[in-house]
Amino acid sequence: MQPFIYNALPSRVIFGFGTLTQAADEIRALGCSRALVLTTPFQRELGEALVAQLGDLAVGLYDNATMHTPVEVTRDALGVVESTKANCVVALGGGSTIGLGKAIALNTDLPQIVIPTTYAGSEATPIIGQTENGLKTTQRTLKVLPEVIIYDVDLTLTLPAQMTVTSGMNAIAHAVEALYSKDANPLISMLAEQGIAAIARALPRIHLNSEDKEARSDALFGAWACGVCLGAVGMSIHHKLCHTLGGSFDLPHAETHTVVLPHATAYNADAAPQVMERIARALGVEHAAQGLFDLADKHGAATSLADIGMKESDISKAVEIACASPYWNPRPIEPGAIRELLENAFSGKRP
Ligand code: NAD
Repeated sequence: MQPFIYNALPSRVIFGFGTLTQAADEIRALGCSRALVLTTPFQRELGEALVAQLGDLAVGLYDNATMHTPVEVTRDALGVVESTKANCVVALGGGSTIGLGKAIALNTDLPQIVIPTTYAGSEATPIIGQTENGLKTTQRTLKVLPEVIIYDVDLTLTLPAQMTVTSGMNAIAHAVEALYSKDANPLISMLAEQGIAAIARALPRIHLNSEDKEARSDALFGAWACGVCLGAVGMSIHHKLCHTLGGSFDLPHAETHTVVLPHATAYNADAAPQVMERIARALGVEHAAQGLFDLADKHGAATSLADIGMKESDISKAVEIACASPYWNPRPIEPGAIRELLENAFSGKRP
């Protein structure tokens, strides 16, 4: 066994079907009585239903959560927190909604109950990314780690087919990079393998029937496992590239992860051969990077950066930004090789 350091993060997790009904009890258990429910415009109805369900415990609904947590939206929401005298937030939605809850917690220290409806994994991390003047900055602080996560599988049945695959691949990306992380440790690596396997098992079944509850349950469990990986250990070139592409070129979050992951994995293949074996085993394939590419491709996800809105002329700038302050990576960051990686991802070449 290699020497390692492991830091556990405090969190309470409720996982099951129909668990949304437990939200009121969880608010009371935190000693709170005035919950502000957060969601996106798209999930407004769901938010309204939760407000109605919470009755006197809810003081309002803020439904303008936006991807990449723009600071203007946070300011607007903080005004609502103040005017409603909310003493906790309940984030109901994907990473964008959870990001807003974290931003409110960062500014106010209010406790958060989060009810994730995608597989992005933000609920399990002490990480917050915020955007100001087109620049995304990320910080890690226990202040933003949600106190309670309620996973309700029923809420994920409506996640559209395309987003199910890309959000699942987004989750897998956390586990892949946790396996070759500088601070990898045996507990998180076990969880990473389990997370990859659960999602890889689930996606084909959800593709056939989006309301397959067992498959949805596997996917959501996998999302939690992968989110814990993201929260526990440092990430590498894959996340650096995705932050660059999302933050500076406005590419969509989960889709970008999906396209880049096979290529980032291939980039590190020779530097982390044992990790490649573990990823391949979890996927049930021979070749890790190809297996990741095929998992996305077979289930209808875009596999090229060109298809998700990147311009070829932006590749040079992306290489420059990604190499300027790189995260630790098992293989050294070489601008020429990163350019090749991005060119392959741009054209959608199978690794
Ligand atoms: P999202 O939250 O932006 O959701 C995309 C759209 O899908 C929204 O309109 C949302 O309302 C809708 N949606 C969500 N769940 C649904 C469901 N079950 N049924 C129907 N529609 C649904 O997308 P995301 O990929 O979950 O989150 C992306 C954001 O999360 C990015 O800003 C990213 O930076 C952040 N993120 C942060 C962390 C972290 O640790 N800080 C981790 C992962 C992602």
